[in-house]
Amino acid sequence: MAAPREDDSDQTDYGSASKPCTSRTCFDFSTFMKMQGKKIEKKMENKKKEEEKPCPLDKDSLGRSTWAFLHTMAAYYPDKPTPNQQNDMSQFIHLFSKFFPCDYCAEDLRKELKTNKPQTSSREELSQWMCRLHNQVNRKTGKPEFDCSLVDERWRDGWKDGSCG
Ligand code: FAD
Repeated sequence: MAAPREDDSDQTDYGSASKPCTSRTCFDFSTFMKMQGKKIEKKMENKKKEEEKPCPLDKDSLGRSTWAFLHTMAAYYPDKPTPNQQNDMSQFIHLFSKFFPCDYCAEDLRKELKTNKPQTSSREELSQWMCRLHNQVNRKTGKPEFDCSLVDERWRDGWKDGSCG
C-alpha cells in the first residue's frame, strides 16, 4: 500500500490496521517532518494560550516552584542566625509540611522530619540539609541525585562558567 499523504491522513483507508499509522515508518521523510511541524505548532499555540490564561499547578510544577523557593530561602538564610531565627525556620519547615498541597508528599515529609530535624544553625547547614532532603525525594521518584557541593552555584551565585550572567 502507498504511504498515506499528509492531506488525506484522516480519511485514508488503512486496510486491516485498527489504528491509523502516524509513526515515521509510515511516511516519507518530508511528509513526516511536515506533520511533526504541525504538531509542534499546535503545542506552541497551547503553550501561548496557557501563558495568556495560566492554569492551576499540577504536582510537578508545584514541586519545581516549591523547591526553587525552599532552596533560595536556604541560600539567603543568615550565616549566623539568632536563636529566634533558628527556631522560626524550624517552625516554618514543620508548618510547611502540614500545608504543602500534595497530600502524599506532605505526609512523607512529616514522617521524615520526625527523625531528620531541619539543620538551622547556619546558611551552609540549612542549604546542605535542604539539598539532602531534596535528594531523598529524587531517589524516591527515580530522579538523578544532585551534587550538593554545587548548591550555592545553582541557587545563589550562578554557575562558575558565567552562564547565568
Ligand atoms: P525538581 O525535583 O522539582 O527540581 C528542580 C530543580 O532543582 C532541578 O532542575 C535541579 O536544578 C535542582 N535540584 C534537583 N535536586 C536538587 C537537590 N537535591 N538540591 C538542590 N537542587 C536540586 N513528587 C513525587 O512524585 N512524590 C513525592 O513524594 C514528592 N514529594 C515532594 C516533597 C516536597 C517537599 C516537594 C517540594 C516536592 C515533592 N515532589 C514529589 C515533587 C518532586 O520533587 C518534583 O518537584 C517534581 O517531580 C518536578 O521535578 P523536576 O524534575 O522538574 O525537578
